[in-house]
Amino acid sequence: MKILYLTHTQPDGTLSKESLEVLGAAVEISKNVSGSTLSVALVGEQVQAAADSIAGCGAAGFTGVSGADFGVSRYSSDAAAAEALVRTADAALVLAPATSRFSRALPGVAQRLDGRIDTHITGIHTEGGGLQVERWYYRQRMMATLTRTQRPWLLLIDAGVFPPWTGEAGTAPVQQVTVDLPEAARRTRVIGEQAASTDAQTIRPDAELLFVAGAGWTKKQKDGQTHVKEAEKLILGFLDQSQASLGSSKSLVDQSGEGQEILPFMSHMNQVGQTGATPRHSKGLSTCCHGEEPHVVGWRFVHERRAVNTNPGCGWARGKADVLYVADAFEVIAKVNELLSKD
Ligand SMILES: Cc1cc2nc3c(=O)[nH]c(=O)nc-3n(C[C@H](O)[C@H](O)[C@H](O)COP(=O)(O)OP(=O)(O)OC[C@H]3O[C@@H](n4cnc5c(N)ncnc54)[C@H](O)[C@@H]3O)c2cc1C
Repeated sequence: MKILYLTHTQPDGTLSKESLEVLGAAVEISKNVSGSTLSVALVGEQVQAAADSIAGCGAAGFTGVSGADFGVSRYSSDAAAAEALVRTADAALVLAPATSRFSRALPGVAQRLDGRIDTHITGIHTEGGGLQVERWYYRQRMMATLTRTQRPWLLLIDAGVFPPWTGEAGTAPVQQVTVDLPEAARRTRVIGEQAASTDAQTIRPDAELLFVAGAGWTKKQKDGQTHVKEAEKLILGFLDQSQASLGSSKSLVDQSGEGQEILPFMSHMNQVGQTGATPRHSKGLSTCCHGEEPHVVGWRFVHERRAVNTNPGCGWARGKADVLYVADAFEVIAKVNELLSKD
């Protein structure tokens, strides 16, 4: 089976961690499926440095589509580049990272190639020489393992599923594939990038720790009062010192729509859970959050879990956290911030 690892470079010409994770998977699969060969295909303004950085991955060959037209995320140029690369490789299986860029472009490529695509892949199994992939359906309630006979089969692999490839850099000769874009394909011009919200910086996918703030931070405390300003200071102080990524429960992010006093830096982008995100940090710390199932399903990939809650009977106590500190999160985080500031 011809396996193609297809990725795009970052604006600085390197490969992202997400891309290297998919390379790790591609190398592993090509070892496990007998008779398979692995090749690499790169899209970007310049691809040579990226190819050299993974020269030791054992690929039989490197191809690339490069030039200013391919340095930006645009459907027309990305789809044309990917189509040309898959055709050149005559690939049966294409593994690519589920970046926003490829999530947009590759479904159309599968259509053009009369192939099939599966997105949000969270696992690949090669036992017995076959190939099965894993993904979740129906708002993360059901996990399916599936296979397909149609080729080429394109797989967009979610971040955080596989360990990133590490290995020797070197010199990898890249066979350039020429893609002539018609003028109509250039009618979309990329003039810049803007984050969805200036507060989105609290979401740090590469952080080791996920810090979840629940609705308890804005509820009446033991003195019968709410302390939202203090909560804000404690949470931001912790994030600043720990560089953790900020997650939230649905109850907390919904409060702005309900006219309650809110934490201004919190948006629906922070929501973790069944109807929110499924982040992939290795550790998680939940504070003032009950730990109900619709929230905790979003912690599926967070393996080391701790929670701070005043209620010893909260959801985290029921096998959903490794450690539950039955304590007041205002006091705990104030102390933790104090200790962190001494480091
Ligand atoms: C279809 C569906 C989908 C849903 N999807 C999601 C989802 O994606 N994500 C999600 O989060 N929820 C989701 N929910 C809602 C979910 O069921 C809960 O209602 C929600 O997670 C509760 O949020 P919370 O724990 O922050 O708030 P609460 O349930 O109000 O809990 C607040 C907690 O804070 C604790 N607390 C208060 N003060 C302190 C203090 N000083 N120190 C320590 N602890 C304190 C309290 O003991 C309490 O446990 C969904 C529900 C449905 C029906």
